[in-house]
Amino acid sequence: MGNGPAQSPPIMPGWDDCDVVGLLGSQFGVPVQVDNDANLLALGERSMCYPDVDDLIYVKVATGVGAGIFSGGRLVRGADGSAGDFGHVYSPAADQVPCRCGNIGCLEAFAGGLAMAKRLSAHGHGVSDAPGVAELAKAGNLEAVRELREAGLAIGAVLATCVAILNPRVIAVGGEISAAHGALVNGVREAIYRRTTPLAGERLRIELARSGALGGAIGAAQLVLDTVFAKSAIDARFAE
Ligand SMILES: [Zn+2]
Repeated sequence: MGNGPAQSPPIMPGWDDCDVVGLLGSQFGVPVQVDNDANLLALGERSMCYPDVDDLIYVKVATGVGAGIFSGGRLVRGADGSAGDFGHVYSPAADQVPCRCGNIGCLEAFAGGLAMAKRLSAHGHGVSDAPGVAELAKAGNLEAVRELREAGLAIGAVLATCVAILNPRVIAVGGEISAAHGALVNGVREAIYRRTTPLAGERLRIELARSGALGGAIGAAQLVLDTVFAKSAIDARFAE
């Protein structure tokens, strides 16, 4: 997202052009930093678990699918803040399935927790959301576990392209769905190693995220440390 106004966020239509930083800044009278969940989780995971790794992708699998990307030690936001928003790229697994963003065939229309909940519900399991899918998988329900594995394969197929482009050292797979059962990260591993060159794959680690429920909050704290309390920012304050 960066610190500019939100621009046409795919699943938050009412927030288009909203100056979140300005609104919060005028309300609280303090410097404000805003970022999306996947970027903050990537910041938290890296600062807690991989402080020496400069090339890392954090993948969040919950209601939807998204990623935060570190390349060369810097969080990659892209020209307009949408870097890492890979839940809405085309996936053959989601072919012709409508997505909540309005498009069809998006990765998260197949591999997101909401999509899994819809399929499980159609098969008679009383789940309606991502936490429900996670609970079902944790309980060892075979259909839910199979859903996680298939989702992992679809996500990994897209991530294999990211590996070819970015050559990460670590891919951390997080979010409540991933944490529920190892089947999802195993599917991710299978799809990525199948499609990755020996050079890019030899030292690539694909792990369950370890920063846990506080990862996003720790990432937000790290963002403040890196910006508001950065040496350049403090020098500028004193110069005023
Ligand atoms: Zn979509």
